[in-house]
Amino acid sequence: MTTIFTAWQGVRARVAAAATRAGRPADTVELLAVSKTFPADAVRELYQHGQRHFGENYAQEMHDKALQLGGDCPDLVWHFIGPLQSNKTRQVAETASWVHSVDRVKIAERLSQQRPDHLPPLQVCIQVNVSGETSKSGATTAAAAELARQTASLPRLTLRGLMCIPDPAADAATLRHQFRQLAELRQELNSQGFGLDTLSMGMSADMELAIAEGATLVRVGTAIFGARSAKENTQ
Ligand SMILES: *Cc1c(COP(=O)(O)O)cnc(C)c1O
Repeated sequence: MTTIFTAWQGVRARVAAAATRAGRPADTVELLAVSKTFPADAVRELYQHGQRHFGENYAQEMHDKALQLGGDCPDLVWHFIGPLQSNKTRQVAETASWVHSVDRVKIAERLSQQRPDHLPPLQVCIQVNVSGETSKSGATTAAAAELARQTASLPRLTLRGLMCIPDPAADAATLRHQFRQLAELRQELNSQGFGLDTLSMGMSADMELAIAEGATLVRVGTAIFGARSAKENTQ
């Protein structure tokens, strides 16, 4: 039986091998363990083995796990990666260290206003809709620069980079193309003076492709924790 620990070690090896193939040191790619739908005990187990960065999609679930684990896992870093509604921003601003899914200025403004003074600024990424499907969340590539400018100006946020969720049904060539678009957008924004150091892209099925295109952080759930129950909706 594969335990969470051995699965996690396998994912770390995949990340390191993909980084090496891309000519980069393994520690240039952060592994975010996406623990959504899995219990706090699973998070605690990986924490005890040294994993620090964990991702969640639902504000309430992240908040509950943070309460359960706060005492045992003092250095745990929560990343909120799910779609964000206005009425959930406070909980996220109070619990997370990172938010990857900023896709409109109203959400960025609320997160900045609601970030507690005793915490450091919230680290954020702008989610970009690289697949171009209108049903998908994320700012359009055309709107990303303006959203980045507005987000970077907010006092309690630090803009770190860009995030994407490509069309999961796409073939490898299409996925690579979409990852490359995000990498090129980062370059373009950095040439305009943004110092973006983060490309949040790649999941269980496509982390190697994302790393080949320059991912600095991969968000991996299934390959570490196993399959989620069917009724759970990843979007
Ligand atoms: C669930 C989720 C992941 C992890 O997906 P897996 O395919 O299970 O690795 C990554 N990113 C986001 C935004 C997610 O919602």
